[in-house]
Amino acid sequence: MKNSLQIARIFGIPIKIHVSFLFVLPFFAWIFAQQPEPYGFAGIEGDTLRYALALVTSILLFASVLVHELSHSYLSLKYGANIREISLYLIGGVSAIEGEIRDPAKEAAMAFAGPFSSLIIGIFLLAVNYLFNPAVSSTEGSALFLVIFILGYINIVLAAFNLIPAFPMDGGRILRALLATRMGFVEATEKAAAIGKILAFIMAIIGLLISIWLVLIAIFIYMGATGEERQVKSRYSRY
Ligand SMILES: [Zn+2]
Repeated sequence: MKNSLQIARIFGIPIKIHVSFLFVLPFFAWIFAQQPEPYGFAGIEGDTLRYALALVTSILLFASVLVHELSHSYLSLKYGANIREISLYLIGGVSAIEGEIRDPAKEAAMAFAGPFSSLIIGIFLLAVNYLFNPAVSSTEGSALFLVIFILGYINIVLAAFNLIPAFPMDGGRILRALLATRMGFVEATEKAAAIGKILAFIMAIIGLLISIWLVLIAIFIYMGATGEERQVKSRYSRY
């Protein structure tokens, strides 16, 4: 990845962040500082404390995404693939995996590892908030519990979003792996991409009625489905 900085090396894998991150991180902190409870810190007294909490939450959100990517990587390494690098964006990451895993069960497990880790982190944090937050409402109470609640909530959303059965989400890869148990890899990719495009189409129509964001996500999914299909086909046409 161009214009990126290596921040760490875990399991021998270079962890890189894109330079845009230096702007995106403060931007997310700003959003968290403006949002009212329970999804932000607008209700917290004092500018310094409010922005400090928002920044800490943004950094921990980034750490959650890193754990998600490392979960994919850990299983990939275990199954014998090579990870060139992990590139991180604030709400997502990309693991550059070299060498293909031909076993559909392993591919499904690798794809599922990321959302599974997000789900576990999310359930754990929401459970901690639910069990130990002394406030009457589960979303009020001390600022620390607000941080825990927001991170737990976002991790659940990350898990759910990634499980949408369409490329480029992990769910698209899980779907392809399931299809690949009954047909060839290229055909499974075509079928999974077709399902992804249909989903994107439905999402776009619903989005036009309720939210422009859904339309943007639909376009993102449609492009992901098209891209994955093209990439797999060009790779296999050489054989
Ligand atoms: Zn993932």
